[in-house]
Amino acid sequence: MLRLYDTRSRQVEPILPAGGRLLRMYSCGPTVYRHAHIGNLRSYLLSDLIRRVCERRRVRVEVSQNITDVGHLADDTDADLSGEDKVLAQSRREGRSPFELARFYEDAFRADAAALNFRPPEHMPRASETIDLMIELIAKLIEKGHAYADPDGSVYFDAISFPTYGEISGNRLDRLQPAHRIEGIDPRKRFHADWALWKPATGEMTWDAPWGRGFPGWHIECSAMSLHFLGERIDVHTGGIDLRFPHHEDERAQSNAATGHDVVAHWVHGEHLLFEGRKMAKSTGNVVLLSDVVAAGLDPLAVRLALMEHRHRHQMNLTWDTLRAADKTLRRWRTRVAEWAETPSRPLSTDHVTRVEAALDDDLDTPLALRVMRELERAESLPPGARLETFLHLDQVLALDLSAEIGKLGAAPLPAGASALLEERERARAARDWTASDRLRGELAALGVRVTDTPEGQVAAPER
Ligand code: AMP
Ligand code: ZN
Repeated sequence: MLRLYDTRSRQVEPILPAGGRLLRMYSCGPTVYRHAHIGNLRSYLLSDLIRRVCERRRVRVEVSQNITDVGHLADDTDADLSGEDKVLAQSRREGRSPFELARFYEDAFRADAAALNFRPPEHMPRASETIDLMIELIAKLIEKGHAYADPDGSVYFDAISFPTYGEISGNRLDRLQPAHRIEGIDPRKRFHADWALWKPATGEMTWDAPWGRGFPGWHIECSAMSLHFLGERIDVHTGGIDLRFPHHEDERAQSNAATGHDVVAHWVHGEHLLFEGRKMAKSTGNVVLLSDVVAAGLDPLAVRLALMEHRHRHQMNLTWDTLRAADKTLRRWRTRVAEWAETPSRPLSTDHVTRVEAALDDDLDTPLALRVMRELERAESLPPGARLETFLHLDQVLALDLSAEIGKLGAAPLPAGASALLEERERARAARDWTASDRLRGELAALGVRVTDTPEGQVAAPER
């Protein structure tokens, strides 16, 4: 059974889906006004790994991941009142319409996700297309006394009405300090920690609401979409560590206030990625895109492998050297798999499978899982055909396309009858019957098959 570190309970907990064999997971998705960098992609790898581990355990996984294409201010709590929507600001800079811009970066994100073998989420709602869900939820929060509208058309969540605020991040209401801004606390707020659910505005990317024209706050997006697409019981909610506060605290308050119970069972966060020693972020100018990795001649899945060398819960520093090393390992594994695929298939090594699965179940210990893979690669006592099957089996979770080179080593397939002879020869060699082994080599040569004995076992290829 999968166990994950839960940010709210601050301990590793078993993940027992409320739906039995169906796990519902919500992952905060990208804001599509720029390319996702490989730090962002690390956060999405977390949910792909959770999904793949659960699917190996025969649990169906239903994922919802939003596309934020509207209304995402830098940070709702301390954005100044004229704070500009990121999508709008960038569309002005790039000289295209906000919708064009959002679609362009959404497509780029889907392409990056596909290149990293992230399984597509079942639901990928766009914020701009689900405004009605947000309006409905805001109305419900007002009705229940958890939100209030200002005559200017803005709506705020009443933080005091949600006493368990701060359980995820530890930022309880009594410890939150008012933001120190020149213009002081927003006079429309009853309490300094209240946040906007709706902001009045006119022009592009605004919608009519009972409180007036405007656009939704970022946090209400995720509450509305998660409740609508996954329902009131969500097993796992993922995101990068910086989303703990205020985004996830606010989302939790909204969803719980609307339903009257805890909606999300487990909050799971991925730590940040550093690159060459500095946090990867647009603000620090330290950004590497997947396209930069490909332009450097590396396989995009080298990024996936390099990221898995560290546990999601730890900060990690990636460098060009570690990326190049991961690329080398990836290519070597694919070549080995292709070589092993030229030998007869053998039952997989349940010992290695069990150890990799146990590592992944233990709060996604991917570094340990990869160490077991390396051990398996060198396990000379196992026939190549067993290593082949074990690698391919585990690749369902690792998703490194380890079968990519199969069939590309020797140009043509082996002639009929060759694989039976190869199996017989392997048995002869295991029994140290060298006479039979040599005879079989001769028979294979007569069929046009060249056999080479390697420390990993025999490798067969058609004679050119
Ligand atoms: P954004 O598109 O800015 O909303 O961010 C998308 C996701 O990437 C969020 O879950 C962030 O927490 C996460 N994220 C941002 N920077 C990093 C980083 N350097 N390393 C890992 N995750 C990050
Ligand atoms: Zn979110």
